[in-house]
Amino acid sequence: MNLILMGLPGAGKGTQAEKIVEKYQIPHISTGDMFRLAMKEGTDLGKKAKTFMDQGALVPDEVTIGIVRERLTKADCNGGFLLDGFPRTIAQAEALEDLLHDMNRSLDYVVHVEVPQDQLMERLTGRRICPTCGTTYHVKFNPPKQEGICDIDGSELIQREDDRPETVAKRLEVNAEQTKPMLDFYHDKGYLVSIDGLQDIDKVFTDIDEKLQTL
Ligand SMILES: [Zn+2]
Repeated sequence: MNLILMGLPGAGKGTQAEKIVEKYQIPHISTGDMFRLAMKEGTDLGKKAKTFMDQGALVPDEVTIGIVRERLTKADCNGGFLLDGFPRTIAQAEALEDLLHDMNRSLDYVVHVEVPQDQLMERLTGRRICPTCGTTYHVKFNPPKQEGICDIDGSELIQREDDRPETVAKRLEVNAEQTKPMLDFYHDKGYLVSIDGLQDIDKVFTDIDEKLQTL
């Protein structure tokens, strides 16, 4: 089962990824983990990627693709994989098609967990954190007993810079713009499965699972 998982920040992609890999026993391959592994193993591509990252530069596509190739040819991917955070561009998506073709494989589905941006704003800007113990809350979905105060130690909760509305709106906008062409690309190829991510977590998974069962 060869899958890509897509969704904007806050759409619940991480939770669904966990459920999918647990049920189908395929590795969850996130871009970050993949790079860390290549660097840890000290492969040529891992070393190359590191030199770019150390300079704070973007890792070029050919290096990234090479690392994806190394990762997908590992034995744990024989039964499939769940890619998360890759591809990020059409060029990468096309390179992935070629790579899978070389491996005599192809994608099965691109699962898109879809949540409207205004709902994501609510999810993401409602986060509050305790500066003392690090416990996280959400003003709507997981509020403290007393508004703005940590249940555990009584500290005043704060909102991280990353969770402020302007920052979140910008992040969502950039992500959505980046994602749109790929959704179109995979839709045209017939791989795209859109799942309503507004439902509760278990129902979202049931919908994904029903689709995967058709393979
Ligand atoms: Zn606290």
